[in-house]
Amino acid sequence: MSGRVTFIVVLLVLVLSLFAGYFMGRGTANDLGVEYHAFCTISTDQVFKSGLGDVYDYEGVTDFSEPDFHYLVSYIVEGNALKDPSLVNVPADLQDEQKDMALQNEAWGLFTALIPAQDRSMVTQFNVFTDGYSNTLAAVDQSSVEPSQWVLEVDIADLEDRNALIFTMIHEYAHLLTLNASQVTPDLEILKAPEDIELQKEKSAACPHYFTGTGCSHADSYIQVFYTRFWVDINDEWAQVDAMQYDSEDDVPYYNALYDFYLAHQDQFVGDYAVTHPTEDIAESFTHFVFSPRPSGNSIREQKLAFFYEFPELLQLREDILNGACKLK
Ligand SMILES: [Zn+2]
Repeated sequence: MSGRVTFIVVLLVLVLSLFAGYFMGRGTANDLGVEYHAFCTISTDQVFKSGLGDVYDYEGVTDFSEPDFHYLVSYIVEGNALKDPSLVNVPADLQDEQKDMALQNEAWGLFTALIPAQDRSMVTQFNVFTDGYSNTLAAVDQSSVEPSQWVLEVDIADLEDRNALIFTMIHEYAHLLTLNASQVTPDLEILKAPEDIELQKEKSAACPHYFTGTGCSHADSYIQVFYTRFWVDINDEWAQVDAMQYDSEDDVPYYNALYDFYLAHQDQFVGDYAVTHPTEDIAESFTHFVFSPRPSGNSIREQKLAFFYEFPELLQLREDILNGACKLK
């Protein structure tokens, strides 16, 4: 009997706190300036914090090696749904993960909850991979046959750290937002020869705007405006660092040089990963724009976040993403 009373009391407290959350949250703006209609189930602050920290600080690292990477399943995307799973050969210890379609749908469900359907029509394929916990959490790639279409890839092992996965998904989405066919002209020749540096130089010289590495950006594209405003002054110095990745098989000297470049220009970047490439800078800056309050200062780093406030459609998208994140189960 007493057990049952406790249960009812606990239930009542739960119901009251849900109502309190509902009414306190209703119609009031949170610290990100977005109006919430309902109780928020995740902390956007925790999502933001999960994305902080240096990735190129390799001081003292002597035995760096890339983790093993395996694709597990590939799906065709149809609206919100995943269709026609195609399984690849995997080691025996990954067969459970490969068959866990509920978990794979959960990973896809995170993405569809965060990004409104009309903003992700370029995603036509969903790949599940793993390189173990952490390391690469998610990625995007152009379709190898139709470069206006894109593939979202998620490491199923990283569903364990949902905050970090949400942060990374928004970073990856920012690539789709800034590199899709309405922003950058898709280039099948480049897609077929991603390692051809001479072809890249040729294409870049023929492009009157910023050449992203995937194609020539449009005059009014986000990346063209961003690059012109924030990168023209530092590009030559950065290009010398960037060229180091082709110098040797060992990536650590390149990572060290990137990190030194970051330390020399720290007031311009939201984090060290942003110095990887202008396309990474806009993706990281966008993710910080989504998950942090509007900046009050005027450093270049803060100007990069304020940049996105110039576009009403991006403010709407930010609100949609934050509301989507809040409604995650
Ligand atoms: Zn990226």
